[in-house]
Formats: sequence, structure tokens, C-alpha cells
Amino acid sequence: MKTLQPFKIYLFISAVILFSGCAEVKTGEPPPQAIMPPTVCQGSAAFLILNDQAATEAAACKDNTTISFYRDNATAPLRALLGTDLDEPPGGKELRISIVAKDGRFRQQRIAYTVLKKDFSTQHLTLPGAKGVPGQQTDERFEREKAIVEKIFTRTVQEKLWCGVFIRPIAGEITTDFGTRRFINGVPKNHHTGIDIKAPAGTPVAAPANGRVLYTGRFSLSGNSIFIDHGTGICTMYFHLASIAVQSGQKVKKGDTIGTVGSTGRSTGPHLHWGARINNQRVDPLALVALFNK
Ligand SMILES: [Zn+2]
Repeated sequence: MKTLQPFKIYLFISAVILFSGCAEVKTGEPPPQAIMPPTVCQGSAAFLILNDQAATEAAACKDNTTISFYRDNATAPLRALLGTDLDEPPGGKELRISIVAKDGRFRQQRIAYTVLKKDFSTQHLTLPGAKGVPGQQTDERFEREKAIVEKIFTRTVQEKLWCGVFIRPIAGEITTDFGTRRFINGVPKNHHTGIDIKAPAGTPVAAPANGRVLYTGRFSLSGNSIFIDHGTGICTMYFHLASIAVQSGQKVKKGDTIGTVGSTGRSTGPHLHWGARINNQRVDPLALVALFNK
């Protein structure tokens, strides 16, 4: 009589557990699939965990962007990062994960989670002259620059370039929170998609984790800007810099100086605007720091 190989038995048990929907999980063991934390705020981040040793690779799709899973070592669960955009409507969500097993079989796994509404603050700014009320010419320039920025994010790699925790690029007081709705000269603007950290001009800005410089350049709104790809869907951005110390394509290590604090572009004084995206979703960079420090 033909007997099932241990590997096949494991696959069968995994399939029963995964599809029965009532798997009993022993205390201390991660569930077969999970989102940690189980609820995610708008503009925040979570880990997707797939604890299935029979799976060799997995991927999901969210808002036309692929979420790729990685494994820290041979026995570790498959993990991926889930970003929730600051404008993502709150409520119950579902992701469909495509999984390839060691035997080449393909299956899909659904994973449910909840996005919670976040109450972002408001801020009123007065900028001199016509700076706060862009005319048609500046609007066109902003649109052109926006298109350049969106193209930058299409060049990211799925390979994991970072390791360990993410650190803050500079110390200092946060003067504008992530997601703040701004009114410039009374005109409502988009949400603030990063955090502003106050620091003297010339303060060195450090890379928060290992990565590769995606792009450096000067924009009318964000001034001297750096975009870093950390792999696995994580990108971080640094705006209003006085100087840029890295080049596009250059590898950076956590703690390396990438530039200095300034007030270039549309800015009211020296500060660092620090932004982050996870799989193209705009998230609070401090949520990224918190996620890896849990
Ligand atoms: Zn800012």
C-alpha cells in the first residue's frame, strides 16, 4: 500500500486547518495566518504573517500593488508588510494571498482585518505673497513633479534590504503630525503626508535602515529631496534638505548621513519632513518605527 510521505501529511493537515476556519492554536504558537496587530489605523502599518512551512512563496495584491512575502530564515514564517493609506476608507477588509507550496501547488488564502478611522488634526498656516495660493503655472508644475514622484515608486525592489529596527533620522520636536489637514492662507490643502521634525539648519540626517537611494532631486514644493527604497515595499522620503550627500542608486546603511536639514522648497523654517510609504500606501513613519520595536 502506498503511504503518504511526511511532507504530504503536513500539507494535508495544513489544508484541513486552513480551510476548516476553526483551527485550534496552542498558546504561544502564532496562528497559521495573521495580521499583527489585528486592527490597523488609517496611515499605519502591520505585519502579514503566514506560518506555513510548506509554502515557498506568497504574494497578495492591494490597490494594484503587489505585496511580496519574505522569510528571515528557513524556519521563520513568511512575512509581509501591510500599509494602510491615510485616505483608506475605514471598515472590514480582506486580502487574498496567493501561495505556492514546495510541491509546486498553488492555492489562495483569504485574510480579514479591520481599518480604524484616525482623527487627524488641523493646522492653519499663513505664507507671504501668493505662495499659499498657487496659480495655474505653479499648479501645472506641481502636477508635473507629482508625476515624476509617482514614477520613482515604480522602481522599488521586493528584496529585503533592511534588517533590525528602523530608527528616527534626526532627534527633535515634531512640529506637524502625520495626516494633519492644512489650511494655507485659508485655502484647504491635502493631508500632511509625513512628519515635520524641527532641527537647526545643517543637522545631519541619518538613514533609518539599510536601503538603496531611489532618487535625489529638487522639487518646487519639497525642495531638495531624497527617496530611499528599503525593499519589501518600504520607501522613506526626506524633504526640504539644505544638502544631499548621496546619489541615486547608492546603497546606504542604517545611520549613514544622507544629507542635512534645511528649508528648501515651500517651507517656513529649517526642519526635516520625513515621509514613508509601504507598498505605495502613505503611512506615518513613526508607525514604521513602532512596528519594528514591538
Ligand atoms: Zn512636512
